[in-house]
Parts: sequence; C-alpha cells; structure tokens
Amino acid sequence: MASSTTYPVMERFPTLQGEGAWTGHAAWFIRLGGCDVGCSWCDVKECWPVEVHPRVAVKELVKEAKDSGLPRVVVTGGEPAMHDLGPLTEALKEAGLATHLETSGAHPVSGLWDWVTLSPKKFKPCRDEWYKEADELKVVVVNSHDLEWAEGHASQLVPGTAQFLQPEWDRRDVVMEKVLTRIQEAPQWRLSLQIHKFIGLP
Ligand code: SF4
Repeated sequence: MASSTTYPVMERFPTLQGEGAWTGHAAWFIRLGGCDVGCSWCDVKECWPVEVHPRVAVKELVKEAKDSGLPRVVVTGGEPAMHDLGPLTEALKEAGLATHLETSGAHPVSGLWDWVTLSPKKFKPCRDEWYKEADELKVVVVNSHDLEWAEGHASQLVPGTAQFLQPEWDRRDVVMEKVLTRIQEAPQWRLSLQIHKFIGLP
C-alpha cells in the first residue's frame, strides 16, 4: 500500500526555495538519503549513503508536509530519483500539495511532478528521458568549461524550458564575471543564486 511505502530521509524542514524559477517561494523540503553521482564539490556528502538514513513512511511524510501549511513540497537529495518516487508524489498530490523535484537525471523518471528542476552533473550522465520532463535546467558552474557544457544540455530541452546558470557556492567569486558575461551574450540563460545561503537558511 502506497502510504506504508518508506523512504530513507535525511531531513525535512520548511524554508525558502533559494534557486531557480521558484526562488523566494516558501516550501517544505524533503531531503531523501542516497546519492551515487559523486560531485567533488557536493555540499551534502553526508547524504550519499542510503543505509544510514532512517526510513520514514509516506503517510508520515505527507502529514508533516500538510501540517506545515505550505503549498508545495520540494523533494531533493542526494539524488532522489534513485528511489521510485511514485508512491510519495501520488500521496502528496492527493493531499493537495504541489510536488517539485530536484534531480541530476542520472536515474529513471518516476513520480508525478508539478515542477522538475534538472541539474545534470558531469560525474554521472543525465538520461535522455529527463530533458522532456524538465521545467527548468539548472547548471552549476564551477569553471568556464561548464558554460560550454551547459549548451549541450540546453540543446536537448523542449523549447521554452527555463534555463539557469548557477555559480557553485565556493567558486562564485571566481566564476561570477564569466557567468554574467555569458548571460549578456545569450539571454535565454538566467542567473540563479543560492539565496538561502546568503541569508543563512538551510
Ligand atoms: Fe551532491 Fe547533488 Fe552531486 Fe549528489 S548530485 S553528489 S547530492 S551535488
């Protein structure tokens, strides 16, 4: 039964979406445990092993989200698409909550989504099926090569998909000028900053 399905959960909390098109909107975040992508600059490496995170039932996850009073739930990780996200998202939607996903696209599509943020990583290829699911593409920029790499992903999107370049937090002073120059040259790109980090939110 879907409500008894469990997921490894690292944390869940209310905050503001700090990145991409929904920046500044309040949301309930569920951070699922497990990631096999292996980004060298990852800021949630404690999330990577699946087995250390307690498993929580869908019923409880939905109740907490509903009780928060927030209208949307962001499912993030880790790499949440390592798990079958069908039971969780079906239950969230039945409860009247909007479902947002943050994924690298390295695992098969699952779940019912109102918004999909596709953020491919160089460390594990994005599966082709995600390009048509994406509502926004968000490329983390660590160095200038990432700006060219971003174009390869953008070329596979459905026309009209939002496109963001996001300086990697620890490299923002180094790459910001290059990112801003690219956005001036190619204004289909928009700037994404991790505003939650600037204001000290999780
Ligand atoms: Fe970290 Fe996300 Fe990369 Fe996984 S995909 S290693 S959680 S940045």
